[in-house]
Amino acid sequence: MRLNECADMQGPASTEKTSRITDPIADEDRYSRQVLFPGIGAAGQQQLAAAHVAIVGCGAMGAASASLLARAGVGTLNLIDRDFVEPSNLQRQVLFDEADARDSLPKAEAARRHIAQFNSRIAVHAHIADLVPGNIAELLLPASIILDATDNFETRYLINDFAVQQGKPWIYAAAIGAYAATMNILPTPQRTTCNLQPATFSPTACLACIFPKPPSGNMETCDTSGILSTAVNLAASIQVTETLKFLTGQPHLMRRTLLSFDLWTPETEGRQARSEIATGSPRPGCEVCGRRRFTHLAGENRAHITLCGRDSVQIHEHHHPVDLAAMRDRLRTHADIDDVRSNDLLLRFRRGPHTLTLFADGRAIVHGTTDITIARSLYARFVGA
Ligand SMILES: [Zn+2]
Repeated sequence: MRLNECADMQGPASTEKTSRITDPIADEDRYSRQVLFPGIGAAGQQQLAAAHVAIVGCGAMGAASASLLARAGVGTLNLIDRDFVEPSNLQRQVLFDEADARDSLPKAEAARRHIAQFNSRIAVHAHIADLVPGNIAELLLPASIILDATDNFETRYLINDFAVQQGKPWIYAAAIGAYAATMNILPTPQRTTCNLQPATFSPTACLACIFPKPPSGNMETCDTSGILSTAVNLAASIQVTETLKFLTGQPHLMRRTLLSFDLWTPETEGRQARSEIATGSPRPGCEVCGRRRFTHLAGENRAHITLCGRDSVQIHEHHHPVDLAAMRDRLRTHADIDDVRSNDLLLRFRRGPHTLTLFADGRAIVHGTTDITIARSLYARFVGA
């Protein structure tokens, strides 16, 4: 039943239904059980309402963290994601449904719409974009804490550069197979940064203190090694709990460790199912937090085309807006192109074994190949050089 049909119905039952739908839910009701928790309380709940969190990536980790923060009443969320919902996401990405996958809705926008259905009282900004040096300040500066929900180290090192430069905390989180890991990174607060934390805690090591260089070689991904939804939801739960401590002015309670779990394999002699390694203080001589050399932020060595798992290549070297409707009409005249579909957020078409998804900012994901030359050639031929 649509909302406007209720008014035409007779009888007390329908009147009651309408009034329940239109009555706003009082915050005292919505957050009552969380306020009862001594670690939050009424003052903490007010701090959450005033807080602003950025979540980079809106796959399984980002969807779970965004959902938990939205239900907890964090006032403003920035969701940043470059991808769209696919059927294989539904097993673990808790904010999406079958209609999102059928419509290939961009994940950030799908998340925003679903959050609005269970908490319409908070502000959620959906950014359909790849986080890059050129847009990172605009997307992350308004937030007081940054949550990593990405699936790649290139973006994590970029976040680390920005967070250290700005003195903003960020929380690393990762899951693969049955393995889940998180780590809080608390850089030295900058004098210019207006954030909530009192200057009463010492900074932790940054990502580059612990791993000076991004891992090289073939990385395991959930497209190659699979993933349990429980592992990623555990990592998201820990990440969000740590965020709540920070937002309610209790950074001294935050973990200073790399915490990891293997949820599948039982603990035996010589094999730990749970591990917690102290991350300690900033490492003297660290290129990022010690020498303050922000090479990822400067965009050095940044590829314009990247493999993005699941047999696909992302092309992000073209920064020009695309008129998706005009492009759709033009592509429909091509004899060797099939299944041209578009909405106001993206356009998709198939050509032989390849599917190309084009976003309004000129970015594209070519599915059906890991060959960069093929992807670039398809883009140049059908979208433009
Ligand atoms: Zn460092």
